[in-house]
Amino acid sequence: MIKRIEHLGIAVESIEESLPIFETLFSASCYKQEVVESEGVRTAFIQIGESKIELLEAISLDSPIAKYLEKNRGGFHHIAFEVDNLEDELDRLRNEGFTLIHQSPKDGADNKRIAFLHPKSTKGILIELCQEKKSDTD
Ligand code: ZN
Repeated sequence: MIKRIEHLGIAVESIEESLPIFETLFSASCYKQEVVESEGVRTAFIQIGESKIELLEAISLDSPIAKYLEKNRGGFHHIAFEVDNLEDELDRLRNEGFTLIHQSPKDGADNKRIAFLHPKSTKGILIELCQEKKSDTD
């Protein structure tokens, strides 16, 4: 089940340059910066009420963010929805005919397991599904 919008992903040329602008805009501080090597991105998260903004900067030329910025100026990149069971949602959407970029969950930033849907099956919108990783103490 899809529960809520978890965050919006925004592609930026430089977190160093963009983060202070967004921190001032939202009057909130970044609570986490993290590199996700497998996606070729550096991320920075800002909490705004119950929602989050994720800034994404490319750390390599073959990063999806580098490719995005070749075609677009920085800006809206993806919308992430929190789900209660990522495997179940991926199965459901695969059966509904959606194309998945990740066939099974992978590790993402901010203590999440994630998977992306291919924008060709959503009329161009890049959608991330995410689920909080269970801590060992749960
Ligand atoms: Zn994201």
